[in-house]
Amino acid sequence: MSLYRDEAIVLRTQKLGEADRIITLLTRQRGRLRVVGKGVRRTTSRFGARLEPFSHVDLQLATARTLDVVTQAEALSVFSEAIATDYARYTAGTAMLEVAEKLTEEEGEPAVQLYLLLLGALRALAHGGREPTMLLDAFLLRALAVAGYAPSFDSCTQCGEAGPHPYLNVSAGGAVCGRCRPPGSVAPAAETMALLAALLSGDWPTAEASDPRHRREASGIVAAYLQWHLERGLRSLRMVER
Ligand SMILES: [Zn+2]
Repeated sequence: MSLYRDEAIVLRTQKLGEADRIITLLTRQRGRLRVVGKGVRRTTSRFGARLEPFSHVDLQLATARTLDVVTQAEALSVFSEAIATDYARYTAGTAMLEVAEKLTEEEGEPAVQLYLLLLGALRALAHGGREPTMLLDAFLLRALAVAGYAPSFDSCTQCGEAGPHPYLNVSAGGAVCGRCRPPGSVAPAAETMALLAALLSGDWPTAEASDPRHRREASGIVAAYLQWHLERGLRSLRMVER
């Protein structure tokens, strides 16, 4: 048995036996990890409360034959309460945790950019001040970009012609010009394209000046884009396993 430390965000927990939990973490150095929290469901647990979803913790872990075991947990940021007590923040935050888990296909593979992105998004969510849906959409677009699926909302993804373009195609990766436009392309409002570009680049003054109907349209496009990539990812994974 050897000990190591890492900083982590708790993505998910599952009951294990009488009083333990399996805790799914996104760690700063080791990517996604599943570890065991022994006795954390007992009220007398020294650190059970620090190992709930949204917790940002500094951990000491002991290597084990199967899953490593938490031996110490110190809270680094306390934003789980500010997120969990507000419905809009909670649903946006839960989606962030779920997508972070899905985008880290391999356990133990470092994903430091995704870790920093998630930490920043949860911090902003807990702080309030920005609309949770827009924080979620910005997180999803940037998380997909970090995972290698950066969309374009300006130049044509097919021929590279400088935008703005009136069409968008989810499977083509974003904006498409009138000549390249593949079947299934949509024609969102120009303001929606500008909002998507602002969310991807972190241009909050532009994003916050947007109209609610363009925000709704942008959210629909982000959801379709995410679903397309996750389904494709899962399909490719199934093909590898069989
Ligand atoms: Zn084109």
